[in-house]
Amino acid sequence: MLAQEKVNLPPGTSFSNCWPYRATFHAYDSLASIIACSTYAKQEDFIRCGYGSFRCHDTLLCPLCCYSRLARTLLDEFGDAFAADRELFYIVASVSADPDETHRLIFRDYTGVDVQKVKTGGLAQPCIPENYGVLFTKADDLLQCRLIWDFIAEMIREFTGKGAGPCLSGVVAGPELAVRFQPLRVLPHANFLSWSSGFTVDDARRLRQYLRHKMRDCRRLKPGLYPAIACYRLVAADHLRAVTSYMCKPIDLAAAYGAAAERVEYEPTHMIALNAQTNAFLYRLPLVFHRLPRIVRYGACHSSSRSYFGYVTEWRQQQRERDAGRRRDRQDVYDPFDQPGYSPYRSSLGKWEVHTAHHLERKVLPYRSRYPFWKLKFETPPPVPPTIPPTATAALPAKNAVVPEDGANLNHPDIPASSNATAPMGSQPAPTT
Ligand SMILES: [Zn+2]
Repeated sequence: MLAQEKVNLPPGTSFSNCWPYRATFHAYDSLASIIACSTYAKQEDFIRCGYGSFRCHDTLLCPLCCYSRLARTLLDEFGDAFAADRELFYIVASVSADPDETHRLIFRDYTGVDVQKVKTGGLAQPCIPENYGVLFTKADDLLQCRLIWDFIAEMIREFTGKGAGPCLSGVVAGPELAVRFQPLRVLPHANFLSWSSGFTVDDARRLRQYLRHKMRDCRRLKPGLYPAIACYRLVAADHLRAVTSYMCKPIDLAAAYGAAAERVEYEPTHMIALNAQTNAFLYRLPLVFHRLPRIVRYGACHSSSRSYFGYVTEWRQQQRERDAGRRRDRQDVYDPFDQPGYSPYRSSLGKWEVHTAHHLERKVLPYRSRYPFWKLKFETPPPVPPTIPPTATAALPAKNAVVPEDGANLNHPDIPASSNATAPMGSQPAPTT
């Protein structure tokens, strides 16, 4: 009902008029229906997002929060930085089951066709469902995604900076996940906005080679996957804004669900299996992204760099100061060496594995919606109509009752006639001293 109210905006609703637009152009109605009928832990927050000032802060699925927390921040910071260096590239690093190297390297200018593809979310290369990315059923499958994201991040760190080796001066990047159902498979990949003073096709090959070595040397990564790099040179300032919005889009769950439902021709038995896969995907999605920032800044894009070229808005400056203060406060009370389960030999990936295994193998407390807390804090309760208790009605003097001149009530001689049990505190006369 709430999802329907968001999209249709009946009179008196507290939702803004952005939702019908999103329903028309971004299939938000399909996404909201899928989430509302699923067992997603943050379901209530997702559906109520946009009610007054309430936000769900779900940067994986919610289009409003993806825009306000990711896209708008990046556009404010780097929207006018098209000419910050000689060239600007949009790079997509992903994996493919295709062993042919020529199919796994794209290096060309960003064209109008790509703009259309970006708008419709169809920049990924087509392949058969069984060859799409990795499975998404066990803890080991989730680990494959984390390993691939880690290798891509290492690759970017290796090739960003100053000196002879690095070929990129500043990079803004974000890990992303694409999904397909029947069978449930996901494609971990990452998008980069990369400024460079000279990036060639040989540099793109070096990036792919580095990723290939990393993947081949890792025993925990399953074989049969090869790195794929696509580099698009942005030739107009408008493209920067289009690509930034595309990078920060939510996971396109509705399109994947719709395509899978069409493939099985909406047959009830297969639809039950599809719904089970959707619930499984939504359960594992927050786990695979646990403590993984959606936007990371490298090189000259990082504010600590001397050649930083981003624009810092006042709001962003305040946010940084708030975060710094929070870190300072936490240092006083939080001792990482004194935490249960702490091990000096456990990496961040090891900690993530412990967290994921804990959630997948044991029962954990369900997620508590933040909406009741927001409602308690920000929403004023409706006015309560004044009620007169029956005892008070009986105590009221009759219409023609005679009130003695000294102000005493006949029914209750101890109570003066001017007193009122329900009178507010402020209406009482001030005590005289
Ligand atoms: Zn939201």
